[in-house]
Amino acid sequence: KSINRFSTATAIEDLITPPVQIRYTKHLINGQFVDAASGKTFPTYDPRSGEVIADVAEGDAEDINRAVSAARKAFDEGPWPKMSPYERSRILLRFADLVEKHSDELAALESWNCGKPYEQSAKSELPLLVRLFHYYAGWADKIHGLTVPADGEHHVQTLHEPIGVAGQIIPWNFPLIMFAWKVGPALACGNTIVLKTAEQTPLTALYVGKLFQEAGLPTGVLNIVSGYGPTAGAPLASHMDVDKIAFTGSTETGKIILELAARSNLKPVTLELGGKSPFIVCEDGDIDKAVELAHFALFFNQGQCCCAGSRTFVHERVYEEFLEKAKARAIRRVVGDPFKKGVEQGPQIDVEQFQKVLRYINSGIESNATLECGGGRLGTKGYFIEPTVFSNVQDNMLIAKDEIFGPVQTILKFNLNLSLRDLLLSTRDINEVIKRANATRYGLAAGVFTNNINTANTLTRALRAGTVWVNCFDVFDAAIPFGGYKMSGIGREKGVYSLNNYLQVKAVVTPLKNPAWL
Ligand code: NAD
Repeated sequence: KSINRFSTATAIEDLITPPVQIRYTKHLINGQFVDAASGKTFPTYDPRSGEVIADVAEGDAEDINRAVSAARKAFDEGPWPKMSPYERSRILLRFADLVEKHSDELAALESWNCGKPYEQSAKSELPLLVRLFHYYAGWADKIHGLTVPADGEHHVQTLHEPIGVAGQIIPWNFPLIMFAWKVGPALACGNTIVLKTAEQTPLTALYVGKLFQEAGLPTGVLNIVSGYGPTAGAPLASHMDVDKIAFTGSTETGKIILELAARSNLKPVTLELGGKSPFIVCEDGDIDKAVELAHFALFFNQGQCCCAGSRTFVHERVYEEFLEKAKARAIRRVVGDPFKKGVEQGPQIDVEQFQKVLRYINSGIESNATLECGGGRLGTKGYFIEPTVFSNVQDNMLIAKDEIFGPVQTILKFNLNLSLRDLLLSTRDINEVIKRANATRYGLAAGVFTNNINTANTLTRALRAGTVWVNCFDVFDAAIPFGGYKMSGIGREKGVYSLNNYLQVKAVVTPLKNPAWL
């Protein structure tokens, strides 16, 4: 079914050796790198070739029990939660310095295990990782309660206390960034942690776990267990000694996590789940810029972003020109070995995701969307997929409804079927696209491309999404909150908002008159 074959195809066969050694493959529990209690290991793969790059300790309920005991002890006995916040802040800063020092190796390991371009890991993700820990180090000594004006009879203050042992389950698409979104605020607030990495990408979290030890993090504060969802993630989510659970991944798994938390000890849950985010191109902007931004919004990270702009809505007046240029841009996209300079797109993470994306491409063809370019596998090994563009996509097609999580851009036309009433209203072009953009169970993000401030203001308020990027996309500074409306999640991560996920509020009430000790 493939229309375009790319010259990079041959280069993919000739893999560059990643400039890094694999050092840490065991669980990090109570300050030690240890084998799984069962002695079992599981393979982790190089998505460029499908070959095994290391065998990693495979955690199950017993390893989770051990890690939770260590985290519990480190919380209950301290010193971490009771340590001076300034001292906690300094440990986070020392950690950030060590990450900076080891950036090249970490970027190489991340790209090797994930298949993402090395330049992306090195130039954007590692600096963001450092920035996230600087940001949360800054918060550590600025978390405080309030003095509350109550009834005039009592002195009332609130104490903002750490919640306890935090269980954290992360996905494979941004292993280090997801680590930081979860671990940064939890540590800044004085919690202890058991983190389960995704089975596809266990390596970098273990490496930075070691750096945390070097930075002086007390024993047992951060425990990292590798393993599969049902056997290691589920026991963590349902553990009676875990006080809070934070999860990023699919909406389906999010529901399971919520249920496990509810059925065990009713621990609070934050969820960051899937999306099918609209990217709306209005007729008034620079089309070349719109094409580039829409391309980036979808294809970034091999299309494996929860917030990917995966429904490109284009105003009918600029649709044809946009389509031609979007197709040309996708054909120009450089796919290849992530370690090769100038490569924009590497392989999909694993064989399941690879096959799933190809199934969606077939579903698009079968439902009579127009395959403008791509559509097939690249090379003969690994999980490379051609940048793919569909036009004539209708809202009810599977490719317009489901999260594909791959390099497949679906382009939809808007401003059709105007009613007389719409024509009489100045916002007529916008109403249709608002309705269609919001007609999804998801609500993670949205993109808007326009030069018209009124259009921008209307869209940013009408779109039901946790982030709306106007004339930009995927801007992920540490200070900007991120999270979903509807089935894209519960709660917010990053920024000041994520501190609330890791704090309890205690009201302390003292009589102002006739206290007992007088
Ligand atoms: P997933 O939700 O199955 O996995 C995410 C994390 O949850 C992993 O650590 C996994 O081990 C764990 N997990 C899985 N089942 C579990 C269970 N029963 N109990 C506890 N933990 C469990 O996601 P996936 O299978 O890796 O990817 C499937 C789809 O999820 C993708 O195609 C994509 O649509 C979506 N996804 C979204 C994000 C995001 O950032 N929102 C990230 C990765 C994947």
